[in-house]
Amino acid sequence: MGALLYRDALFYLHEPPEGYHMEEPWRLVAAYEALREWGLAQLMYETPAPPWEHVRRRLLEVHDESYVRLVEKLSMRGGGYLDADTYVNAYTFAAGLAVAASALDAAVRVASGEAEAALVLGRPPGHHAGRYGAAMGAPTLGFCIFNATALAAKTLADLGYRVYVLDFDLHHGNGTQEILYRDPRVVHVDLHQDPSTIYPGTGWPWQTGEGEAEGTKLNVVLAPGAGDDAIVEAAEAAVEMAVEMHGKPDVVLVDAGFDAYQGDGLGALYASTNTYRVLARLTRRLSSRVVVVLEGGYSSGLRRALPAYMAELLGAGAWPAEEETRSRGRALEETRENLRRLCRALGHTGC
Ligand SMILES: [Zn+2]
Repeated sequence: MGALLYRDALFYLHEPPEGYHMEEPWRLVAAYEALREWGLAQLMYETPAPPWEHVRRRLLEVHDESYVRLVEKLSMRGGGYLDADTYVNAYTFAAGLAVAASALDAAVRVASGEAEAALVLGRPPGHHAGRYGAAMGAPTLGFCIFNATALAAKTLADLGYRVYVLDFDLHHGNGTQEILYRDPRVVHVDLHQDPSTIYPGTGWPWQTGEGEAEGTKLNVVLAPGAGDDAIVEAAEAAVEMAVEMHGKPDVVLVDAGFDAYQGDGLGALYASTNTYRVLARLTRRLSSRVVVVLEGGYSSGLRRALPAYMAELLGAGAWPAEEETRSRGRALEETRENLRRLCRALGHTGC
């Protein structure tokens, strides 16, 4: 028993066809160096991506054949852009399948008790990728290719496990939400910056799932300017609501983005490492069986927030200690108001 760390050369070969792009292989170099520096990589068993060719067929559970074929063809032709944000090169199709294969392998091994936790340190990311590509009316795929987490969640649910997806990336996991929107078996708690202020423009409190799945999707809207105080309060309240309504899961799949960390570069949230340690404790409170899949995080978030989260999750190792950050302006009050909206949308008592 122990924790698994999925790393593979393929994850580094997905590169921008030309010029600078913030979603680039350096992210994994920085993330891995930080995990080593804090003594955390040493606590995990490194494993390459498992055989991934067969995952093409399984991807059709979450993506339409037309979208899978589009990525495949573009990749076979050497690459290009799927949209203004999202590139493909000759290795992208294989790398996307390898991330999905790793998340599936991790999910099944952790769920069965063969490993106690896993971190898939892969890219391209996936939480914005919906059934046909860009999800829920978003303008682009936001650097994402295949939704590994949604596939792992569906697979575990098919096997009879109770599953939560916890997404604390700065941006709404609109692809995951679209794919699971009518699936009552997966509870999805998603913390993100106010969608009226940032890509992808989705993830409102009243978007709670459809049909039998109504009430299983929890969108936690963080006001721009939110610091540790607001983010921690919102995360704890949302997880508590989810557990009161749906009980605890067998397995938690974490869509782990580190771009809400102060100064990471893309948004207006100001989480310090303290937020990530609380998020890890919340994750553990939900279940001891945890699979972490890397999503966003582009600079300091990978170097500091990722090791803080993993140190607390693994219950060992050092972490980058920092002063707690306070919310700016009215961000704490606005975040609380958004929580009340979520509570009312869910028909939860005590809002
Ligand atoms: Zn993000």
